Amino acid sequence: MQKFKSYTLNKLEKIPQLSGLSEEQMEEIKIVSSIYPFKTNNYVLENLIDWNNIPNDPIFRLNFPHKEMLIPEHFEQLKRVRATGTKEELKEVIYNIRMKLNPHPAGQKELNGAFLEEKKLEGIQHKYKDILLFFPSQSQTCHAYCTFCFRWPQFINDLDFKIQSKEIDPLLKYLSENPQITEVLFTGGDPMIMNSRVLDSYIEPLLKVDSIKTIRIGTKALSYWPYKFTTDEDAEGMLNVLRKITKAGKHLGFMAHFNHPKELEPPVVKEAIDKLRSIGAVIRTQSPLLRFINNDAKTWTTMWEKQVQLGCIPYYMFLPRDTGAQHYFAETLENAHKLYTEAIRNCSGLASTAKGPVMSMTHGKVEILGVKNNSYTLRYVKHRDHSKTFKTFIAEPITPNPMWIDDLVEVKEEVPNY
Ligand code: SF4
Repeated sequence: MQKFKSYTLNKLEKIPQLSGLSEEQMEEIKIVSSIYPFKTNNYVLENLIDWNNIPNDPIFRLNFPHKEMLIPEHFEQLKRVRATGTKEELKEVIYNIRMKLNPHPAGQKELNGAFLEEKKLEGIQHKYKDILLFFPSQSQTCHAYCTFCFRWPQFINDLDFKIQSKEIDPLLKYLSENPQITEVLFTGGDPMIMNSRVLDSYIEPLLKVDSIKTIRIGTKALSYWPYKFTTDEDAEGMLNVLRKITKAGKHLGFMAHFNHPKELEPPVVKEAIDKLRSIGAVIRTQSPLLRFINNDAKTWTTMWEKQVQLGCIPYYMFLPRDTGAQHYFAETLENAHKLYTEAIRNCSGLASTAKGPVMSMTHGKVEILGVKNNSYTLRYVKHRDHSKTFKTFIAEPITPNPMWIDDLVEVKEEVPNY
């Protein structure tokens, strides 16, 4: 049985595979990790990273912070204060840089609140009519952290940044007052960091809510710790809790995060997928398009085809959100659309089910349908104002090489909105 062993910043020096790195490279990882939390584990280190190909190995880029994730001004400032400043000065610099990195994109703190008797509920977000996001406090970490993660503020020990709840009762009350909500998405962090007992304490009461037809679990455990469902001591217990969902006649949707086909290669991933499918889970996959990690069409075609072979359904190609190191990971919208088109063209029909490229932004999820003569055709896959879902519109850039929806301005509605 594999035993989980995690490494955070204060154990960086203990990672045996890093012994070949220069002092300067180690220092760079430490500097960037003071802004974006760092965490890896023995499975990632031993099975996913090709140590003969660092720093360019895609999983190394996915898991280990690197210098270019900070703009030069921030990097140099941190380096200077780390070397000569006091603890308090360093704390202040870190805080100020984090605040400049748009820690809560898409208005999620201000616009996605769920209210009961005018009181805002902790750890719950209600953006779309039919689905609620729930952030259990016990799942506000992951088996390892992704460098691109838009939830990076969840992993900082600063309660101002965190969205989380320990209580199920307010969620149940909110659901009873909003019967139009048919789905609950457990998110984080990674809900699959929880043990079966804690998960059960949330799932069991939800099963009694008739209006809830689907429970979704957003997770990267299949990539970062697949033993969760195979040989962990709690694996059977976890499968038993999840099985209750399908036994109760509800849909169990696993939203699995895979960013590169390498993550699908270890045989234990197939074993874990088979276990989940055997209890009736449907596994859909998603990832952002990331420079230095997966920004070529062949990688996506390979990944989607392999996912179908393993029994998963490709669901979304996202674009990295406007937070953290977006400047480093994002492709231009035009390149993203070209790459998506080429990847889909080379897929079999069953592997070409992923929507994309999609931006999850303030109003909703918007997909790029086409780019021609500097004109972008876009469509809301989902809008917080339900009547605008599927609205198609034309937008033009307000900056050269647009990388995000804010770099465009809507110029006309393309087809009438019924
Ligand atoms: S596993 Fe998901 S939540 Fe955790 S760091 Fe990666 S992207 Fe973020």
